[in-house]
Amino acid sequence: MDSVIDVSGLTKSFDGKRVVDDVALRVGKGQIYGFLGPNGSGKTTTLRMLCGLLTPDAGSGTCLGFDILRQSAEIKRRTGYMTQKFSLYEDLTIRENLDFVARVYGLDRIRTRVDAALDRLGLATRQRQLAGQLSGGWKQRLALAACTLHEPELLLLDEPTAGVDPKARRDFWDQIHALAGEGLTVLVSTHYMDEAERCHEILYIAYGRLIAKGTISDVIATHNLATWSVSGPGLHILSRELQALPGVDTVAAFGTVLHVCGRDEATLERSIAPYRNRPDLIWQRSSPSLEDIFIQLMSGLDNHNGAPTPSLPPAQGDAH
Ligand code: ADP
Repeated sequence: MDSVIDVSGLTKSFDGKRVVDDVALRVGKGQIYGFLGPNGSGKTTTLRMLCGLLTPDAGSGTCLGFDILRQSAEIKRRTGYMTQKFSLYEDLTIRENLDFVARVYGLDRIRTRVDAALDRLGLATRQRQLAGQLSGGWKQRLALAACTLHEPELLLLDEPTAGVDPKARRDFWDQIHALAGEGLTVLVSTHYMDEAERCHEILYIAYGRLIAKGTISDVIATHNLATWSVSGPGLHILSRELQALPGVDTVAAFGTVLHVCGRDEATLERSIAPYRNRPDLIWQRSSPSLEDIFIQLMSGLDNHNGAPTPSLPPAQGDAH
């Protein structure tokens, strides 16, 4: 695997509070990495340190072959960054917006670049529409065109689809995959499970630490979470009862079914045995979903007043 990013020991504090703590990571070219985790857990700060936008307090490594501490200007030049609150000029057309961005950044071959971006993102037929008249999904597409105008090698997307409808999100992800297919490496933070499932690899960050990393199946397999689903009457009361039992780490409702999960399989099975004899309930052994794993990770962390629980499995892959 060609490493586009190879860093270790990344640490950053703000106002004396450590918000990223000893993160190590290797990222492959043309891959899409999804950053997940609770709000305020350090995802954005990590992303920004990885690509030279923010200087770490400690740690070292390279991004796109450049030193993250000493060559951040080189890295930034080759990185596209789309923040959650991207800004466009609403009274300019799509083409005028792209033209303006290209001039501000002093790019060469402006017409060729703008034409290519319009084509790449399916914006050519709308190029004369005012940005202010576009729906959220089209605005977001325009923002993506703007941050890829300089043909970056690395794309950083910070919650790019917050508040965008499902069809536009799907189209957006098709675009991201097309860009990755051309060799662009993409780091994207998201809260959506369906988006996590569209990444080649995911990273789960909580309280500044990298808790899990790998493909979806790696992450699910590593956590070895025994999971049962149960349906029947009175699920709300059942949920409360099950939650109190030993060996039951989490109970979460998915429509008319409860997912009952626990890391200690034997204790979980003993606890639910009397409930499995109830004729009004239908129990099935099931595979945990990514969401089950995340709910469990988050509940484990919440129970420890913000400190990562020691019983969490170690991060996988290249992470430490
Ligand atoms: P996430 O992206 O996971 O929501 P962030 O990386 O944005 O988390 O933030 C992590 C923590 O660092 C938060 O508590 C946030 O308030 C704090 N933080 C982020 N940037 C700054 C900054 N420039 N100055 C002070 N605190 C910051």
